[in-house]
Amino acid sequence: RQVMVCGGTGCHASNSPQIVEALKAELQRRGLAEQINVLQTGCFGFCEKGPILEVHPDNVLYLEVSPKDVPELVEEHFIQGKPLERLLYQDPNTEERIASDLPFYHSQMRIALRNCSLISPEDILEYIAVDGYQALAKVLFAMTPESVIDVIKQSGLRGRGGGGFPTGVKWELTHNNEANNRYIICNADEGDPGAFMDRSILEGDPHSVLEAMLIAGHTIGASHGFIYIRAEYPLAIHRLEIAIKQAKQYGLLGKNILSSDFCFDIEIKYGAGAFVCGEETALIHSIEGTRGEPSVKPPFPAQQGLWGKPTCVNNVETLANIPPIILKGGDWFAGIGTEKSKGTKVFALAGKVNNVGLVEVPMGTTLRQIIFDIGGGIKHHKTFKAAQTGGPSGGCIPTKFLDTPIDYESLIAIGSMMGSGGLIVMDESDCMVNIAKFYLEFTVDESCGRCTACRVGTKRLHEILTKITEGKGTLDDLDQLEKLGKTIKDSSLCGLGQSAPNPILSTIEYFRDEYLAHIVDKT
Ligand code: SF4
Repeated sequence: RQVMVCGGTGCHASNSPQIVEALKAELQRRGLAEQINVLQTGCFGFCEKGPILEVHPDNVLYLEVSPKDVPELVEEHFIQGKPLERLLYQDPNTEERIASDLPFYHSQMRIALRNCSLISPEDILEYIAVDGYQALAKVLFAMTPESVIDVIKQSGLRGRGGGGFPTGVKWELTHNNEANNRYIICNADEGDPGAFMDRSILEGDPHSVLEAMLIAGHTIGASHGFIYIRAEYPLAIHRLEIAIKQAKQYGLLGKNILSSDFCFDIEIKYGAGAFVCGEETALIHSIEGTRGEPSVKPPFPAQQGLWGKPTCVNNVETLANIPPIILKGGDWFAGIGTEKSKGTKVFALAGKVNNVGLVEVPMGTTLRQIIFDIGGGIKHHKTFKAAQTGGPSGGCIPTKFLDTPIDYESLIAIGSMMGSGGLIVMDESDCMVNIAKFYLEFTVDESCGRCTACRVGTKRLHEILTKITEGKGTLDDLDQLEKLGKTIKDSSLCGLGQSAPNPILSTIEYFRDEYLAHIVDKT
């Protein structure tokens, strides 16, 4: 028997390591340590109800477990042979007690998160046991770089960091460049407030990212890769360091990998907290040791990137999709999702929703399904008002678009964007003007200052918004917000400035009456 205990950062903060210790000690005391294996996994996703604990093969899931529950749980479940009722999930709608197969997981499809609640991220053998590094072997011994690129292009995989650029095309551009050195960079500088998709993948399944980087390195002709990760992610860094060390011990990193002539190494670089360093050219400058500011494109990194060499920058979630695509084929992945957005997307579901957590759904799933079926609806039986996708510079989506199938294009069409996968839910009590101001404060702080439109324009937007929220605004100020917002979008250099006005523009469009309510003088 196996007991899997969630070991993501959220459950860590709620004493999951202590639960593991208490379980091991109690099982030892009851003479069961030999028969029952206790394992700390990555994130289960159901963060609202953590710490989570699952017993296999019994298929029993316990929620909101604490270390003090352990003696009773061992007595009831492992000695008496019946699940401990009070820690099982209760469906709020049916009041039915469900041990597994929670509604939270019904419409989910876990590809990028496939191993996060299944294996120990600190043991390479567990990853190998679930077909880990099989895709690398296939690429090294049964495929050419060109055929790998074909499979990735066929899959339709697009960058999950927000840009949505086709991954196969990016690999092809870097591969076709004739320069002598090339690099692969994993962008793990996840900076959107409330977003923790990439962190959870690195905490729960670090080898999947290493394997994908090896595959990318072999395909594009790189012998060195970097993982650029936020220094604020200590658990993810710790597990990555263990994974890199173990991969080296097993001949999966370094010279002559799996006895082939492929040599590849991976180095971790730490971000210093600048949001803009998630932009690929700023990230490259930061690795080079210069100021982390975006530069004008072209040249694109695939043409001239790190130290002037062709560089492929892929985000964590994008990379986590690569091994299953290689093993199952491009057609399999392309069969999931919508016409232009293939596969699944991981969202960090947060805000005024009952089931806060990490969800992975096929592209084309509607916001209503995510918020109400998976998320369990709005907290305290309040009414849904808006959902913000795409991080601090995404737009606020009102009720009338709840049934829009989510993909890259449809979100842009309704004034928001996919971004990296943050999804924040607001209810009837939220003031949309204050929400817009809150997000703008973030982008004002994080603007790198390189271009005037973003550096000065966002500050002016903030001043006007402050005037409005203090009841001193006029209708002219509202016009100014719209005009200036559009100018900043059109004239900023990078995505941060180009999208910073989105929360304001979308709330003016969909919640204009709330702005008008703040304006006393309507003449
Ligand atoms: Fe810097 Fe803003 Fe210009 Fe981007 S848009 S380069 S963050 S000043």
